Amino acid sequence: MAKIEGGCSCGKIRYSSDAEPIFQGFCHCKSCQKTTGSSYSIVVAVPTPALTVTGAMKVHDGKGDSGQGTHHGFCPECGSPLIGTADVMPNVSMIRAGTLDDTSWLKPAMQIYCDSKMPWVSMTGEFQSFPKMPGPG
Ligand SMILES: [Zn+2]
Ligand SMILES: [Zn+2]
Repeated sequence: MAKIEGGCSCGKIRYSSDAEPIFQGFCHCKSCQKTTGSSYSIVVAVPTPALTVTGAMKVHDGKGDSGQGTHHGFCPECGSPLIGTADVMPNVSMIRAGTLDDTSWLKPAMQIYCDSKMPWVSMTGEFQSFPKMPGPG
């Protein structure tokens, strides 16, 4: 696939990744709903060391539905949500997929935090669904 590239709506912050995505999916957690102002976020997870961000992205530290720290990176100029990280997934950066330059290759395969999914949200396709984070607990 093509190199992952994207940025905020005003263009001050740009990012790129040389690595293939670790996973792609929908996140229905409360903090994604808050930070995107929408019903869920579409995330493309990449290894943090492979991600290059140019421009001064602002990071807000909060707590996720897991109770652990989450870090929400956004453009301080236009407010676009760009990249999220969570302490439960070290060295993984979750790109908000709506900010990608090219979204034609997106193929979300899973849904996480379905416990807080808005009741009328339904997607067409086959997705692995998790009530919270994938994995044990
Ligand atoms: Zn911006
Ligand atoms: Zn989320």
